[in-house]
Amino acid sequence: MNAQILDGKALSKLVRAQVKERVDHLVARGVRPRLDVLVAAQDPASLAYVRMKRKWCEEAGIVSGVFEVNEATTQAELLAQIAGLNENQDVHGILLQHPLPKHLDENEALLALGAEKDVDGISPASLGRLFADLPGFRCATPLGIMKLLAHHGIRCEGKRAVVIGRSVILGKPAAHMLLQQNATVTIAHSRTVDLRERCREADILVAAVGRPEMVRGDWIKPGAVVVDAGYNKVEGRTSDVGDVCFEEAAEVASWITPVPGGVGPMTVASLLSNTVDAAEARFA
Ligand code: NAP
Repeated sequence: MNAQILDGKALSKLVRAQVKERVDHLVARGVRPRLDVLVAAQDPASLAYVRMKRKWCEEAGIVSGVFEVNEATTQAELLAQIAGLNENQDVHGILLQHPLPKHLDENEALLALGAEKDVDGISPASLGRLFADLPGFRCATPLGIMKLLAHHGIRCEGKRAVVIGRSVILGKPAAHMLLQQNATVTIAHSRTVDLRERCREADILVAAVGRPEMVRGDWIKPGAVVVDAGYNKVEGRTSDVGDVCFEEAAEVASWITPVPGGVGPMTVASLLSNTVDAAEARFA
């Protein structure tokens, strides 16, 4: 293996320790940060993510509330719950764990979410702020990726970056954050022609696709930085599998994120640090 590891697990530990220090200061001033999560009760993967988030919240001294939505939850109840959380002065952050049950309108729920509490940075208000280069909460996963690059001294300026995936929560905001750091960015997707060739142009390649090990070693420019945001369940594999074939890519890349232990832990760390930002903003 030639590549060095972009160690999200280690960096997230560092970020969470910093978060804890900031929480202790807030508590000394009479404020205990609180993050509330809305999650589909019938989705085991979502519940598992939420359990991990709760554990890390508790370790950092952040209170975490959970509201489970199910098949019986109406859209009006969901919106009333969000309105209540928006108004509750003790709540600093609200997270809507995707996906909600299909009968609920997630977009309407996100529109109802107050930008000052959208610590996951995925509401239209927060995304508008990102694309307008205005201050606001940045999407936790791409923010985690940018922190990982910065921490390892990887500069984006002047680099060719290719992001595979154009989702609202990941691909598009990741591309914009790379652009803000002066990379020249291509966004690839399912209709991109010659995807392998496009990827081979990348100095920084971000895979955000949801297809296990789609990106092979010969898709990667020698010396490129490879960030794998993919998180896929594969039958017969004990841990989650990324969108990049790690063994092949690590032979060619200069830096690479492992799965697990790369982007995933950084997402949660960014969520916690955004929650503390929201709580600190009360004193601004
Ligand atoms: P998504 O909404 O399903 O978007 C996937 C994107 O990949 C789409 O833009 C799609 O293109 C593109 N795509 C699909 N097949 C492709 C192909 N064969 N060639 C090129 N592009 C293709 O997924 P997402 O929510 O962005 O998540 C992507 C991955 O990241 C998933 O594995 C997810 O589990 C993971 N994820 C990880 C974290 C974390 O914290 N680590 C957080 C969120 C998501 P079209 O737009 O043309 O359909």
